[in-house]
Amino acid sequence: MKKKTFILTIDYEVFLGNRSGDLQTTLIDPTYRLMKILDKNNSKMTVFWDVLHYYRISELSDKYPELINEKIMIENQIRDLVLAGHDIQLHLHPHWIDTVYQDGKWFPNYKRFSLHKLSTEKIGDDINTIYGCVNMMKNLMEDFIRPLDNDYCVTSFRAGGYLIEPFSLLKEVFLEFGIIFDSSTCPGAYSYKKEYGYDFRKYPKLLNYSFDETPKHIKTKGRFTEFPIYMIQLPFWFRLFKFIHRKFNISKTYSFTGTGVNFETTKPSKFKHIINQIFYNGRIQLSADGHDTYTFKYCITRSPQHAVMILHPKMLNDDSFQCIDKLMKNGTLEFITLHKIIDVIEV
Ligand SMILES: [Zn+2]
Repeated sequence: MKKKTFILTIDYEVFLGNRSGDLQTTLIDPTYRLMKILDKNNSKMTVFWDVLHYYRISELSDKYPELINEKIMIENQIRDLVLAGHDIQLHLHPHWIDTVYQDGKWFPNYKRFSLHKLSTEKIGDDINTIYGCVNMMKNLMEDFIRPLDNDYCVTSFRAGGYLIEPFSLLKEVFLEFGIIFDSSTCPGAYSYKKEYGYDFRKYPKLLNYSFDETPKHIKTKGRFTEFPIYMIQLPFWFRLFKFIHRKFNISKTYSFTGTGVNFETTKPSKFKHIINQIFYNGRIQLSADGHDTYTFKYCITRSPQHAVMILHPKMLNDDSFQCIDKLMKNGTLEFITLHKIIDVIEV
């Protein structure tokens, strides 16, 4: 197989539910493990930092000494990532603003799950406004990273839960702060989750394109550039095969490195879920998250030479690490950052 060069993006975050997972095993360890594999094989990645999580840890660390340790762990790792040449960019999960910390645990509040739920007032130092939140988090990241890399700028974004729409509410703020690259869309995918759903069924399936009002519509010389997460349509036979394997426990169950659990949303009925799985829900991300190695390898074979891959360190396991390492070692795969591809293709 011809060597593939993927843009590797990771969502640097713990679990979003009320079992967020132990920071060390859920985030720090798997990220170092991934870094080590990439370093060995001369590859780089873009790290979408769930920086509101870090912001809340910092804010509360005066009151809860155990959080000081978590704050230092994240700072050390972000520093190591920057020094190793990886690119750190903005990922926002605004529910952290309302999440309560008590007895060593986070109690999430999803009232404001997407950025759009914050106020539209233009108050630069108010985290409860879209403008203030983006301003404060961008400054936090740049203040932290610039001493290590003079030219560092936050320019790229991935929306928490892929909730980039309605983009009209974010557009002006992003333009003002120079955030002109987005990687939140998953063309062809839609989520039937009532509260946090999205519908990307009519979004362009390209490596990148420019847009202005919404990433749904390509606009020549638009002021923003979208880098959609690459989606693979699994054929019917593949889905049926996987379904049977899962149903009768033929293949090994996939486990996560992370110790937490993702948040619960409204589940469809079992019948509807099965129907969705077999007939409609055949699109998956170019990723190793939650996939067995057979599916992961299938994704790679089915992807073009350049594509955006997404990984969540919390959702990787021994098999996925070994598989990534092997594919890189034998020359099938290499990874570059979002910015590097911007240089290569001259957006
Ligand atoms: Zn996320």
